[in-house]
Amino acid sequence: MKKHNFSAGPCILPKEVLLKASESVMDFNGSGLSLIEISHRSKDFVAVMENARSLALELLDLKDKGYKALFLQGGASMEFLMVAYNLLEKRAGYLNTGTWSDKAIKEAKLFGEIVEVGSSKDESFKYIPKGYSVPSGLDYLHITSNNTIFGTQFKKFPKTDCPLVCDMSSDIFSRSLDFSQFDLIYAGAQKNMGPAGTTLVVVKEEILGQVSRKIPSMLDYQVHIAKDSMFNTPPVFAVYTSMLTLEWLKNLGGIAAIEEINEKKARLLYSEIDLNPVFEGFANVEDRSLMNATFNLTDDALKTTFDDMLKEAGINGLNGHRSVGGYRASMYNALSLDSVGVLVDVMSEMERKG
Ligand SMILES: *Cc1c(COP(=O)(O)O)cnc(C)c1O
Repeated sequence: MKKHNFSAGPCILPKEVLLKASESVMDFNGSGLSLIEISHRSKDFVAVMENARSLALELLDLKDKGYKALFLQGGASMEFLMVAYNLLEKRAGYLNTGTWSDKAIKEAKLFGEIVEVGSSKDESFKYIPKGYSVPSGLDYLHITSNNTIFGTQFKKFPKTDCPLVCDMSSDIFSRSLDFSQFDLIYAGAQKNMGPAGTTLVVVKEEILGQVSRKIPSMLDYQVHIAKDSMFNTPPVFAVYTSMLTLEWLKNLGGIAAIEEINEKKARLLYSEIDLNPVFEGFANVEDRSLMNATFNLTDDALKTTFDDMLKEAGINGLNGHRSVGGYRASMYNALSLDSVGVLVDVMSEMERKG
């Protein structure tokens, strides 16, 4: 039976990407060797790394604007500390919009003073803080563009006189933005780009090299830039698969094209959540995420019926995060409008039953 994968991450990837990636494990580029058994210094793999880095900048429209793209390891969680290690001299600002920002704050506190410029903790992170003022003289301001667990997303970004750092793990490449308003963007691959194991970092070079502390080589963005993202053995399979997804996106028409589809998917699901009395949305309407839609049953007694129907329809990964409960439909780039249609059909069937 066809499965509809709404998993929050690791998440759905395009079929053709999975096919090409699996072929490369047996025979990479007709070489008679596997991608995962050749030297990462071979001509073929160096080309993969260069292509992946270049596609990332091209899709974000950040080519020739002073940015470098890196594929690193350690996940987005490693960036929580690398950002502070490389950029925090005295004082940085953070907007706390949920679990992931909270974790980023915790790591950064090891390196300097952290100002929580705004927070939505008071209402279980159901909204994106607004009307805060950003103090001047910060080393940087850190935000989380899409809150994977709570289903909220920044629609407008703060204007700052300091570098703006953004954890874009769960909505990178999903919507058109002026990406040049950010000075450092990072994203774990496994939400919208590839398998777990690599993290994309896009950084404006001029913000680096300003802190006085010594930085270990593996944690130093400047070292990774100087080595073209090959300081040590990169996660070749994760980088190759990410490159394939970026090629897929480019062929589709880039971010503008996928944004249109993502908006259709989100509109379809949210209108069902709003009109169907069996369900209620979790996040504030104006801050709703196009990627992760969080919702609950209005009557918990219907849970078993709904869960059984989801299973029968081949719908996977709809459980809310363990810290929030309820349901969460993650609609990353590779999820089809069709799959959202199947979910919406099950939801309206629930209304008839309920
Ligand atoms: C999943 C996620 C993370 C953590 O990513 P890892 O690669 O597992 O470290 C961080 N931030 C956001 C917004 C996420 O969705």
